Amino acid sequence: MSTGSETTAQARPRVLVIDDSPDVHRLLKARLKQEELEIVSSESGESGLEELKKSRPDLVLLDLDMPTMDGFEVLRAIKDNADTVHIPVIVLSGLANAEDKVAAFDLGAHDYIIKPFEFTELRVRIRAALRLNFLLRMLSQRAQIDGLTGLWNRAYFDRRVQDEVSRVQRHDGALSIAFFDADHFKSINDTFGHPAGDAVLQGLGQIIQRDSRQSDIACRYGGEEFVLIMPSTGPEDALAFCDRLRQNVEAVVWPRHPERKVTVSIGVAGASSVVGLSAAAWVEAADKCLYTAKKTGRNKVVVSDLRTGEKPAAEQPPLRKAG
Ligand code: GH3
Ligand code: MG
Ligand code: MG
Repeated sequence: MSTGSETTAQARPRVLVIDDSPDVHRLLKARLKQEELEIVSSESGESGLEELKKSRPDLVLLDLDMPTMDGFEVLRAIKDNADTVHIPVIVLSGLANAEDKVAAFDLGAHDYIIKPFEFTELRVRIRAALRLNFLLRMLSQRAQIDGLTGLWNRAYFDRRVQDEVSRVQRHDGALSIAFFDADHFKSINDTFGHPAGDAVLQGLGQIIQRDSRQSDIACRYGGEEFVLIMPSTGPEDALAFCDRLRQNVEAVVWPRHPERKVTVSIGVAGASSVVGLSAAAWVEAADKCLYTAKKTGRNKVVVSDLRTGEKPAAEQPPLRKAG
């Protein structure tokens, strides 16, 4: 699922070594061979920062004394960038004085090892840094995941929708946001019990996750409402996708209540190029469409094109007869 792609640990952690000495690279590669690490090498501060953007390592081993751009500058650049600030950096340095150590830790270094170093010590320090990094990422991910469905939670959605709306404003791309609300869900709880209701919510979450693209962001908005952010997707494509999803939900035979179908109403706000609206306005527009879908029969998709201001499709004949 897409929640995994951001934070799941790779099978082999990737370590970027930034050091101007080819000997150090050779030595590290040879001596860390048994460690199940993927080692990427850069021989200057500048190329190290480039490599960092490309390979997204789990750990950086950084030399301080390098020509042109030294390790302090590299460390500052890593820690000044929101995308890389969380990557732990172990400084490997011939500079043994206290001021350099203090300066490196003040800039955000995770650890400081003085050359020439013991490889046994380096290995355990690398393992400790990777373990800590993994746990921190797992914790921060858990705080953003809905416990029942495993989708992103509301807090994550609130943050992400802001990012996606500002991205579309900057790059003049397409974006659609879809709200899903289970129809007459309360009666499922009332008739078949709360656990059956929970199973339906889990099932809906799985269908939304399974049917959407890797780049889509599936969230549980709360209760029996879900929301899908679809980057690079205009309203027409979003409508086609959501209607397929709606049909897939309707077709499910639920093990706990095979006689009772579940349907969803869907409201979509989309634009295929830039519109000067805030994230709150996008959410409100999608929510309005959802409300219209509910009011005009349920089990349908209503879409609003935010760029053309076209009337929501529900004010035209419904796509499919409400069930
Ligand atoms: P509508 O078609 O108008 O959306 O009707 P509805 O019954 O789906 O909507 P309503 O808002 O009246 O009821 C939503 C219900 O969802 C009420 C609440 O008890 C239930 N619900 C919210 N969260 C959960 C949950 O985590 N598990 C279960 N089983 N039920 C939940
Ligand atoms: Mg609701
Ligand atoms: Mg509902």
